[in-house]
Amino acid sequence: MLLHDERVQLVEYCRRMQADELTVGTSGNLSVRSGDHIAITPSGAAYEDLTPESICVIDLDGNRVEDGLDPSSEVPMHTSVYRQTDARAVVHTHPLYASTLSAVVDELPAVHYMVALLGGPVRVAPYATFGSPELADNSVKAMEGRFGAILQNHGATTYGETLAKAYTRSIYLEWVCRMYYQARLLGEPNILPADEIARVADKLNSYGQTVPARS
Ligand code: 13P
Ligand code: ZN
Repeated sequence: MLLHDERVQLVEYCRRMQADELTVGTSGNLSVRSGDHIAITPSGAAYEDLTPESICVIDLDGNRVEDGLDPSSEVPMHTSVYRQTDARAVVHTHPLYASTLSAVVDELPAVHYMVALLGGPVRVAPYATFGSPELADNSVKAMEGRFGAILQNHGATTYGETLAKAYTRSIYLEWVCRMYYQARLLGEPNILPADEIARVADKLNSYGQTVPARS
């Protein structure tokens, strides 16, 4: 079985994603890259039933490398992120607050300094049908200089140099989306300036949180 350790890790993070309520039902998909291969969750996966054997292995062009279940419909988005960034893991979810904002705003502003963990204010990628090459393109464009994007009327995607980092970014993204939503209910939130987010990014980098170069 190819990518044994990556498969085990993916199953563990799928369970975590359910427990953290980062997605709903079978929505969302996770992947890890190792060399020219990608381990990715199967399409329509019931996360509670996943085993390492249910995980699919594909190449960077999205071709299957092993027989098994059908890989996620979002293969184009995952492979595009791997081809165009130095990502080693991609986390795509349908979290409630990011999805809510995705229907209303074009960007999650710097309402909390922890947006620096994502590289700055998080853009909303224009809507395209799930699984489409257009969605993959829109997502990767929106991620320029960032570690993630919100997907209009859909959800969110983050990446990282490990699955743990990609996942942590999804957790923080959803937390800041929730905070922004709540702040907007109370009034017009103060937004932090770009130079402060840059300062925070440098501080996070200095204690081991990798933050992308700004654009
Ligand atoms: P899959 O079940 O095919 O991975 O799709 C879920 C999803 O979130 C589509 O955007
Ligand atoms: Zn989705």
